Parts: sequence; C-alpha cells; structure tokens
Amino acid sequence: MPTLDAPHPTGDQGFLKHLNRARILDLVRRQPGLSRAELATQAGLTKMTVGTVVGDLLAQGWLDEGEPRPGGVGRPGRSLSLSAGNFVLLGAEIGVLGQRAVACTLRGEVLASRTLSAPTGPPEQAARELAGLIADLRRDPAVAGRGVLGLGVAVPGPVDPADQTLAYAPNLGWGPVAMLEVLAPHLGELPGLRLIENEANAAAFGEAYRHPQPPEVLAYLSLGTGIGAGLAMAGALPGQPTPQLLRGPQGLAGEIGHTLVQPGGLYCHCGNRGCAETLLSGWALRATLGVGEGESLGDFVATHLDDAAVQVALRRAGEVLGTLLVNLQRTLNPSHMIIGGLLARLGGPMVETALAFFAAHQQGRPGLGRAAQVEVCADHLLRPARGAAAQVLARTIGAR
Ligand SMILES: [Zn+2]
Repeated sequence: MPTLDAPHPTGDQGFLKHLNRARILDLVRRQPGLSRAELATQAGLTKMTVGTVVGDLLAQGWLDEGEPRPGGVGRPGRSLSLSAGNFVLLGAEIGVLGQRAVACTLRGEVLASRTLSAPTGPPEQAARELAGLIADLRRDPAVAGRGVLGLGVAVPGPVDPADQTLAYAPNLGWGPVAMLEVLAPHLGELPGLRLIENEANAAAFGEAYRHPQPPEVLAYLSLGTGIGAGLAMAGALPGQPTPQLLRGPQGLAGEIGHTLVQPGGLYCHCGNRGCAETLLSGWALRATLGVGEGESLGDFVATHLDDAAVQVALRRAGEVLGTLLVNLQRTLNPSHMIIGGLLARLGGPMVETALAFFAAHQQGRPGLGRAAQVEVCADHLLRPARGAAAQVLARTIGAR
C-alpha cells in the first residue's frame, strides 16, 4: 500500500506535510480516541511522521490528548480527539422567515446560538441583522476568546458554483446577489474563511459529515417556505472521506421544489406551473389555508388540525412529499433520506401520508434491494447553520 509520506516526485515536502496533517485530523475527527500507533496504521504513515504531526497539532490546540490507555503491546497509547476548546466554527442561515447563527466546536457540538424570528428583508438589511447576531454570538461567554476558523452562511436558493453568488431566492424576492460581499463590511475583522451554501446542501453536508464513513448518497429534504434537497455523496476516491455535494454546473441540482408534479397545475413563484412547491411548501399551505405572514403556520395547523380543509391540504402535501421521496429513490438510489425543515414539524397527516405513500410504492421491484432509510428530523432548526459550520471545518482541514 503506498504511503503518503513516501518521497513525492516533485519533492514538495510542504504539500506532503499538509496531506499528512489533513489525513490525521480527518481520522481523529471520524474516530475520536485513536492512539498515535492506530493513526499510523490507518493513515499508512510511519509512527515518526504521525508523532511529529500530532505534536504540532497538540501545540496548535487542534487536538486533545487523553490519559494512557491500558492494554495492548508496548507503551500504552493516549487517545486523541479534536479539541473541544480553543477554536470555534461559525455557521449561519438566512431563512425566509428568520435568521440563525450558531457557534460549534471542532467536534460539532453547539456552544451557543442566536435566532432572529422576523421575515427577512432586502439583502443589505439581512446582512446587517445577521452580522448583529454573529457579533452577539461571539460575545457569548462560551464563545469569547476562542479562535474563529470561519463562517459558513446557508441561504434559501441555489448558489452559483462559479462565483459563489446566490443565483436567486424566489421566496425572498431576491435576484442574483453576492451575499458574502454584502456581508463583508458588516462582519468587520471576523477572521477565518467565509463560504456560502444553499441551505439544503449545507444541511446534507452536515448530516453526511458526521458519519464516520459518509453514506454513498444522502438526500436532505428541506421543507420550509420553499422546498429543496441537498445531495451529499461519499468522496470519489478511496480514503477521501469528506462528503461531496452534487451541485450541478449552475448549482441547481436538488431543486425538487420546482420539479413538475402536476402538468398544467397551479402557478409557482418560479413562473412555471405545476411545481411541487405549489402543493408542498410553506407558502402554498399558507395560501390554501389563509394563514397570514405574521401568523405561525405551525400554530395554525396545531389549533385547526380537525378542520377538513387542513386535513385535505396536509394529506395532499403529504402525497406530493411521498412522490418526491419515491422519485428521489428511483433517480439517485440514496441510502439515507432525511426530512427536515419547518413543515416536517407539522407532523401528523402530512408526514404520515408521505411515509405511507413511500412504503406503498416499494412493491413490484423485486431484487432491487432495500428502500432508503427515511428519517424525519424533529430538531431541524439549526441543521443548515451547523452544516455550514461543518463545511468551514472541512475546508479548513483541506486548505493549505
Ligand atoms: Zn416552481
């Protein structure tokens, strides 16, 4: 087996050092508790190389070292894990009806969070408000004094991979906007890298990243004011465990809200007719049930659950959700599908109908293996922001 510390043809020792560091950090991230000897075996590196890299990472505050572990041959090893102190990863989400910011450790634990529950205004105003949340978050005693590795911002629309522009956010009424540039003057001297990501993509990345071995294909369905899916896949190369997002050349992959489910159907915010969002989305349910913007859709549904009109709308939305699950399964063959977003919390008739629809459409396909594991996410609120924070970590580890 080739080792990463074998001489590089170009003699680029700096590059090799970087690769070794990234490999060790990622192994410790996925398997907390490994010893130096175990790391050397798993990374295909010499013990001496691992000892040097681990020594540097301990000195820099990236790793914590436990007590010597008894047992085994030779000197007892000490368990290594990513440090819970020293650093902080910031994640944020600009939603249609509110904004959120979260501070996480390298292990993904939430140190503190802030939310703003008000409909999001134009980009400049949203940037000012989000920067305010982040500044407040950084003053939190659990966060203050830590080294900031960066900020990931999740947004409710596709992000153009070419220039990191939010291409459009129809439910905010935003056209193309370079949101990181709009944010920059408000963030001031915030250190570390900055990235922007579609919110469903960010959540999908976060879910896949926390698996010791990312699922081959994971779909995260984000059901909010609008709906979309993030599609995360295991790294293409063996030994490359960081999940990859399927974005498409324009960042439009996973836009399931605008897949056609009813030819000639209702008009959608995107200008087309019969999109899934016209039946399954926060905006469509509000329109159907007459729920105003200032009112909580969740509260309305909870208090009117026995109304026939509410039941019909939720069951119809559930059928569309079931249809999307079946179509995603047949198109992408995911092993995991996660239903998140505000609508997932409506629960009851919508989710039950969707899961029953999905189960009823597994017949007649003998020999095609297991259906995807479908999980309904109860605590969805911070998942996109946490996923964006996880992307900051992945990019920091991978960056030179
Ligand atoms: Zn549409």
